Amino acid sequence: MKLKVDNCLICGKPVPDYEPEFCCSGQECGCYGQPVEPCTCSDECYKAVMDHIGHDMDKRRELAGIKKWSEEKKRND
Ligand SMILES: [Zn+2]
Ligand SMILES: [Zn+2]
Repeated sequence: MKLKVDNCLICGKPVPDYEPEFCCSGQECGCYGQPVEPCTCSDECYKAVMDHIGHDMDKRRELAGIKKWSEEKKRND
């Protein structure tokens, strides 16, 4: 059982089935102890993470033209 639900790094949508896989503790390794797969809710958000490496996550979301999850929800109501 997981105690907390992770949220999509790009849009902030909860990703209940996200299971982070770690390469190692990050010592002397390029992974820096970060999960191998980023926590994303969709292929679109995954692509945004990968396409705009070097920007912070908010900027990547902007560049990819993805709405924040909360905004999306409001719009659909
Ligand atoms: Zn997302
Ligand atoms: Zn590693």
